[in-house]
Amino acid sequence: MTASAPITQDVLTIPRKLPEGGKTNLVGLTRDQMRAALIAAGTPEKQAKMRVNQIWQWVYHWGSRDFAAMTNLAKDYRALLAENFVIEVPEMVSKQVSADGTRKYLVRIAGGHEVEVVYIPEEDRGTLCISSQVGCTLTCSFCHTGTQKLVRNLTAAEIVGQVMMARDDLGEWPEPGQGTGENGPRLLSNIVLMGMGEPLYNFDNVRDAMKIVMDGEGIALSRRRITLSTSGVVPEIAKTAEEIGCLLAISFHATTDEVRDKLVPINKRWNIETLLAELREYPRLSNSERITFEYVMLKDVNDTDADARRLVKLIQGIPAKINLIPFNEWPGAPYKRSDWSRIEKFADIIYKAGYASPIRTPRGEDIMAACGQLKSATERARKSRAQIEAEAGLTPEA
Ligand code: SAH
Ligand code: SF4
Repeated sequence: MTASAPITQDVLTIPRKLPEGGKTNLVGLTRDQMRAALIAAGTPEKQAKMRVNQIWQWVYHWGSRDFAAMTNLAKDYRALLAENFVIEVPEMVSKQVSADGTRKYLVRIAGGHEVEVVYIPEEDRGTLCISSQVGCTLTCSFCHTGTQKLVRNLTAAEIVGQVMMARDDLGEWPEPGQGTGENGPRLLSNIVLMGMGEPLYNFDNVRDAMKIVMDGEGIALSRRRITLSTSGVVPEIAKTAEEIGCLLAISFHATTDEVRDKLVPINKRWNIETLLAELREYPRLSNSERITFEYVMLKDVNDTDADARRLVKLIQGIPAKINLIPFNEWPGAPYKRSDWSRIEKFADIIYKAGYASPIRTPRGEDIMAACGQLKSATERARKSRAQIEAEAGLTPEA
């Protein structure tokens, strides 16, 4: 029996080759990987770069899934592609639409696993919340995903595939001959890596997927429209700045190590001081503006005036925005949402200290689409409440 919460990134990986017919999925390959794959399939080396450019545009700009439609490629080359490759995105198994317009998709990936993807329309933007893992190896005691036992890393194809699937559903690929789709507002304008999983424990696949999404010849989302949320995997933070360059959000949630150890157990490995030291470097390394500090409001756990004051003191000097998240309750959760008046008081202290302190309005509550509630239906091997509390180091009386 292991007593303490596992802080591990041991997860299953699956090979890139699809079992069926041994064809390679072109989705999720970086430009270099695609070039190598095309050469291996018989494309002359001299032509490979140009072929990548052409195929890239079809797949990521026009949203094409069919080699036969790639009319600027010779017929026999299209046949060669079809023999060796597929263009495959995860399958949408269900879609729920909330009264407020939020869409929650259940998506099936290889191995019969399922992950959730949420689309949140707002006045000035449309945000897609995507997942990076099935479940999560970390065990934050307030998070539903953290109670899911089975975990595997998503491939780059499965991460980009979530974005492509959402664009399919929103009907957002440009029509051939009708301009580039860059004019006018986008339905899917922002991405947050705030679904299931710890993105920095699947760094390479997340990086490759975001590079594909940011590529100017394809989906072309700016790095400033992508926010990666991490529980605080300190050694990967500088790499995120250097290799992805997106905006960063931190699941901060507590102002003392004692409380954060219980809420976000990775704090036992990298504590508040270590985390903050690393965060101070992020804006310079990534040439980006503010870091978002996410703070889940848990009744009588982390929501006092003293917490609010400690919070602003701790982050002093870091360009920051504090995002207060009213706790989204789930069946068996060992916490309650702070009262609304408490959340407002907390927000007020932060605001008066000079920080933006938006309270995240719960969206899609009627379809359980809110942060931290995502958990695939097929993997409901839920830990017991007692087990969650034990792993969080909460005593039964707490
Ligand atoms: N693993 C990453 C990203 C996914 S979680 C991370 O932890 O940052 C996205 C955000 O939702 C995190 O800030 C997480 O702490 C928060 N969250 C998790 N469960 C929640 C819940 N039940 N209510 C409100 N926020 C929650
Ligand atoms: Fe994993 Fe994030 Fe949930 Fe913690 S909050 S268990 S890191 S998904």
